[in-house]
Amino acid sequence: MRVAVLGGGYVGLVTATCLAETGNDVVCADLDEAKVERLRANALPIYEPGLDALVRENQAQGRLRFTTDLAAAVEHGKVVIIAVGTPHEQGGAADLSQVLAAARTIGDHLNEAKVIVTKSTVPVGTSEQVRAEIRSRTDHLFFMASNPEFLKQGGAVDDFMKPDRVVVGVDCVEAREAMEELYAPYLRTGNPLLVMDIASAELTKYAANAMLATRISFMNQIAELCERVGADVELVRRGIATDRRIGPAFLFAGPGYGGSCFPKDVKALVSSARVAGMDPVLFEAVEAANEHQKTVLLRKVASALGRLDGLTVGVWGLAFKAGTDDMRESPAIPLIEGLLAEGALVVAHDPHAGAQARQRFGSRVSLVDDPYCAVRGAHALVVVTEWLQYRTPDFERIHGLMARPLVVDGRNLWDPARMRRAGFEYQGIGRGA
Ligand code: NAD
Repeated sequence: MRVAVLGGGYVGLVTATCLAETGNDVVCADLDEAKVERLRANALPIYEPGLDALVRENQAQGRLRFTTDLAAAVEHGKVVIIAVGTPHEQGGAADLSQVLAAARTIGDHLNEAKVIVTKSTVPVGTSEQVRAEIRSRTDHLFFMASNPEFLKQGGAVDDFMKPDRVVVGVDCVEAREAMEELYAPYLRTGNPLLVMDIASAELTKYAANAMLATRISFMNQIAELCERVGADVELVRRGIATDRRIGPAFLFAGPGYGGSCFPKDVKALVSSARVAGMDPVLFEAVEAANEHQKTVLLRKVASALGRLDGLTVGVWGLAFKAGTDDMRESPAIPLIEGLLAEGALVVAHDPHAGAQARQRFGSRVSLVDDPYCAVRGAHALVVVTEWLQYRTPDFERIHGLMARPLVVDGRNLWDPARMRRAGFEYQGIGRGA
């Protein structure tokens, strides 16, 4: 099938590449000339396991092309997918300016009947706005579909190639059949294509992210209670995860959720609920609990060390989670800004987020390529991101390098008893017992 993808960011790039991989003829268009130039040279703007090889292979085979010519992309696709950004506005509502600009481009360049797909995460009613925007600019036939994306960064290619489910919102047979054809290769093992109305599809994405964010905030509050009453959140987690009604996923206590999705999507859900005349107490509490949690690492370091002025703090991990170089809304940011404001020297390591960190912090933070360099002379080590390479480090070496063996393990990677036996002052999240 001829497919156009508007937006070559995280979702657009993964979508375009994975659609090309199953034989579609895909043009991916982005306004950002530098990004497109780099993509043409197989230089990816993001770190995502497995993606670079697929981009290279599909470009070489001619199934995947990158362009800044949005008009040509729209004319190319029988299916045109909108995958541009939807950041949040000042008040928390989703900013739809990129989506509506894409809709205007589509309306101006529609040259035959097409299916127009909103893949960006958008509030209920946006696909209707997109439809109206296009309709006002063309007499050609077109059919709307909502197709929210559920991929997770760090596992995006796998999630796209083998989705748990594909959600499609449609109101006509043409859009339904096009989406069934497009996704058939990815659902051969029997995972479902869930067809529903457009409003329900749009809301499903927010419901999914809000549910996952709720589980995280819930466990973070249980963790705080564990610390106060002398219980261990890891044991409590296992105790509830084995209940089939609850299940094991997304129950890890940590430094708060970040990334480009959960924070903005929970805010947008709050905003949508308010506009709809409802009082979204639960969603607001999830968000408030997360804001509180994002200060937990700084609070722990500060209360253990007292004055931070002139002390050195090593930070392991800067990305908002493992498997990505994305630092958007990472809990590392409030931690590091807080440490710097208190006069501490910060030496940080991350296997992939160095470039993003350099952009954000400039020379205010020392970035090192070797995690052990981050602990040399340090008065504390703080673990922010759960990278695999941090799981079993040489503790004896770390202990020998540190000026004071204080470890704040924001991901509960290490065993508290073993750490204390090894001579560390160890603090995890919720490890009260
Ligand atoms: P992003 O900011 O990484 O990428 C957006 C891209 O769109 C940018 O490269 C930008 O230059 C381009 N763009 C902006 N306006 C354009 C236009 N008019 N025409 C063509 N290109 C244009 O965003 P992202 O992380 O890929 O997210 C895209 C959407 O998908 C958002 O709504 C997001 O909420 C949603 N989503 C993201 C994820 C994720 O893990 N990042 C997962 C699921 C859904």
